[in-house]
Amino acid sequence: HISRQGSRIAPSAAVTEFLSRLGEGRMLIGDRWVAAADGATFEVVDPATGTVFHRAPQATVADVDAAVAAAREAFENPAWAAMTPTARGQLLWKLADLMEANADELAEIESLDNGKAKLIARHADVAMAIDFLRYMAGWATKIEGATIPVSVPYMPGAKLFAYTQREPVGVVGQIVPWNFPLLMAAWKLGPVLAVGCTSVLKPAEQTPLSALRLGELILEAGYPAGVVNVVTGFGHISGARLAEHPDVDKVAFTGSTEVGKLIGHAAMRNLKRVSLELGGKSPVIVLPDADVAQAVEGAANAIFFNHGQVCTAGSRLYVHRSIFDRVAEGVAGAAKGIRLGHGLDPETQMGPLVSEEQASRVAGYITKGLSEGAQALCGGRRADREGYFVEPTVLVGCAQDATVVREEIFGPVLCALPFDDLDEVAAMANDTPYGLAASVWGTDLRQIHRLVPKIKAGTVWVNAHNVLDAALPFGGFKQSGWGREMGRSVLDLYTEEKSVCMVV
Ligand code: NAD
Repeated sequence: HISRQGSRIAPSAAVTEFLSRLGEGRMLIGDRWVAAADGATFEVVDPATGTVFHRAPQATVADVDAAVAAAREAFENPAWAAMTPTARGQLLWKLADLMEANADELAEIESLDNGKAKLIARHADVAMAIDFLRYMAGWATKIEGATIPVSVPYMPGAKLFAYTQREPVGVVGQIVPWNFPLLMAAWKLGPVLAVGCTSVLKPAEQTPLSALRLGELILEAGYPAGVVNVVTGFGHISGARLAEHPDVDKVAFTGSTEVGKLIGHAAMRNLKRVSLELGGKSPVIVLPDADVAQAVEGAANAIFFNHGQVCTAGSRLYVHRSIFDRVAEGVAGAAKGIRLGHGLDPETQMGPLVSEEQASRVAGYITKGLSEGAQALCGGRRADREGYFVEPTVLVGCAQDATVVREEIFGPVLCALPFDDLDEVAAMANDTPYGLAASVWGTDLRQIHRLVPKIKAGTVWVNAHNVLDAALPFGGFKQSGWGREMGRSVLDLYTEEKSVCMVV
């Protein structure tokens, strides 16, 4: 149903209706769709063309306060607080079903707003969001404590019975980035809805739309008013207010390490709980015995998936010197074959970067890399077309301490470096403030098992990269974050543990 109007690609009827339903400047507080308190809005831009196609409310501090009040009321409302675990699980499953029924529309919204190819949004972002919510629905009935045998030394002979129980942490402020807007919202809301918290969700200002559509589906599923509130707006205003708000019990943030540190400081004010999923500079390590064709394809996907705008992007490629040229040139060859285009064009393999700011930032990094002595095997500049496109780029000849090797670029830019032995590559891989993910490519299991424990990262893939699953904990070592999302681990982030001890 994607129609072309001249060279432009027009949204479907469903998305057009959604945008007109929202009108100019509507966000979700309680069960009401409201404008910002002062009526201010900001532009929503199609990054493939630079065209403004919508305006979203620019939430003020007063709007955030109203959303937090709605979330507090909902947290205490028996319709939510006393809902049985089974009912919470069923509701979450119903939300996932509604997302599935509207998956095509959600993927299209994501594509228009972020620039990613719609087909990829459908099969990665939307499919993973649905799967994760269903996974979390299963946990709703399994939030258990333990009975604990105690032997208090100063109470000889006392009969004691002790147990723990887990209770929802309360009102959660959730701040997400623009690279996987819907999926990040689902990662945040899944545990909230499974354990019985309430949320004020703030999508990134570059990509506010899918969270608003999700807000509609949350109300349609039948959640009580205020369980989820969606405020759209700028980080330094509405995000900052959420992080410091005295009546928010926890803040969950995904975004840059720089902003993560600001969130941590702001949260100190009332010692609210904090979880952070931050940046990365993930190494892809190709051992001398790797299947070269597999490693080339894997390394290309590791950096170019989602245009490199992935916190786990394999942005540093370390290849054993014996096969370095074959792998680096192979990845460059793959990069040259990638078709750039509008995300709604079914032929598109890679869309634009999310914003003009991001495209010029990434292009600036490429220029810096070249000025520091790197050579581009392919790409090396912005694409010569409208929109925020940057050519997939492979840089060689960079020093380990070059800016492009050290800093997170968050774009389709790969730095390839050779290594000679295992200890050397482990040291190079760990030579970064980040520790989010890594991948190792090889066939010699003994070498792989020696290398994996040396790598300081929350996830290590072997002969794979960017394989994420609802059941697998995800998060970072070092400055890549605090806490683990997904898997059983996420329940710890959204519950408080209460010890109960009684004399019987
Ligand atoms: P960002 O930190 O600038 O913004 C992320 C979110 O924080 C946005 O919603 C933004 O409005 C908000 N924000 C900005 N300033 C704020 C402030 N002072 N107080 C409160 N909130 C504020 O990051 P970005 O550029 O939008 O996203 C890219 C970054 O996100 C990259 O560093 C990437 O690695 C990281 N990321 C990490 C993960 C992960 O799971 N570890 C996943 C995706 C993205």
